[in-house]
Amino acid sequence: MDTSSLHRQLAALGISAERPPDASAWRALLARLQDDTAGDELRRRERYLEAVVEMQARLLTSSEDHLGAFNHALAPLGEAAGASRVYLFENHRRPSDGALVTSQRAEWCAAGVCAEIDNPALQGLAYDDFLPRWADVMARGERIEMLAREYDELERMILAPQGILSILVIPLMVDGEFTGFIGFDNCAVERRWGAIEVNLLSAAATQIGLILAQRRAQRQLARANAEVATARDRAVEASRAKSVFLAKISHELRTPLNAILGYTELLLEQPGERDEAELSGDLRRIESAGRHLLTVINDLLDLSRAEADKISLRIEPVELTSLLADVIGAARHLARRHGNRLVTELPAQLGELLSDRTRVHQILLNLLSNACKYTHDGEVRLTVLAHADALEFQIHDTGIGIAPAQIERIFDAFTQADDAPTRAYEGTGLGLTISRHLSRILGGAIDVTSALGRGSTFTFTLPRHVRPALSLIAG
Ligand code: ADP
Repeated sequence: MDTSSLHRQLAALGISAERPPDASAWRALLARLQDDTAGDELRRRERYLEAVVEMQARLLTSSEDHLGAFNHALAPLGEAAGASRVYLFENHRRPSDGALVTSQRAEWCAAGVCAEIDNPALQGLAYDDFLPRWADVMARGERIEMLAREYDELERMILAPQGILSILVIPLMVDGEFTGFIGFDNCAVERRWGAIEVNLLSAAATQIGLILAQRRAQRQLARANAEVATARDRAVEASRAKSVFLAKISHELRTPLNAILGYTELLLEQPGERDEAELSGDLRRIESAGRHLLTVINDLLDLSRAEADKISLRIEPVELTSLLADVIGAARHLARRHGNRLVTELPAQLGELLSDRTRVHQILLNLLSNACKYTHDGEVRLTVLAHADALEFQIHDTGIGIAPAQIERIFDAFTQADDAPTRAYEGTGLGLTISRHLSRILGGAIDVTSALGRGSTFTFTLPRHVRPALSLIAG
């Protein structure tokens, strides 16, 4: 109560310097003073209630869906509490080690008080490192109330540079979980907070906690909706790719079958009219179409086994020199067919390999034959690097390359970088899918880098010893 109010009370009771109060005047004065204090209390309570209502209204009517809305909403609380600063911190987990940390998300400052919202030290602050007792107290849902002289060493390090003389921190609890806190600083005077203030500010903290939870739920819902939409798009795309594949595969099967039937009919219709050279030419074409048909069918079987993890492995010591000689021999033939130069760079010592020879051969030949197929009058290079625990095979070509948008898709089953009907290259689009599956089954990996029009490098890494867990499926 101020002195002018006291003077008024005295005058109303007829008390002055000339006329000192008697016992009944004292009693009357005391009663009036008590009334007045109760009025003060009531007015303060009203001010806080109005502030909480105003804060709620600001949050609920805000169109901002992010924490920015809180900056504006904290102002009525700060003004009503006579605080220098009001702020909101949100807890989260540090990605590197999962430690509980807290970051300042919103702030209101009284005129002339230095803002801390851009202080990098108040982002990702680990409770264990800086505020261990804060986390313990607030996790129990209890508030922290301190004067500057009660800070411990760590608290002084953080709070003193911000000029905080007294602080009140109230946890934000959502479903019993400590999710952050709302804090009030007083940088002007060192004073304790009254019970009404604490109760009303706690009510405000509850409101903020609920609104934060609601916003978090909204964000989760939006994320879940986006995931559903992506999954739906993927399913549509997979089904489209499957239809394209079925059309392609029926074409792949029909082409050699038609050739086989066509030449056979020819032979049946004109048995005596063909000389020996024509006859053997026709038979060779029938044989080649039959072989191609077998390759397509084998690829399909391999893929379905690999996808169902039903590939049987034969794990044994692999003679690397002879394996590479076989692969390079086959690749040389393919390279020549497209006018390419095949270059090999092998280390003097290849070392040992315990793996499935046939599958390693299959993967290397697939990568090399692709390099030869998609390169014309250029260079295909096989580099082998012998590491302590792994072998690295780099297959580099100077061919047509792959567009960035296609680079991961080429490993998807049934997908070819160019799946237009006018496509210039033969193939089923299954080779890379099978190779990547196989490389993973052997504990390795296949990666690619490429530049459209300038060539590609496929890197196949293979552990020297197939992983024990995977050898369980060895046949
Ligand atoms: P395909 O039978 O079509 O060659 P793959 O699964 O082996 O099937 O390859 C998938 C697609 O990846 C190919 O259709 C081609 O578009 C692209 N591709 C693979 N290797 C290369 C390469 N060395 N250079 C350019 N494109 C490649």
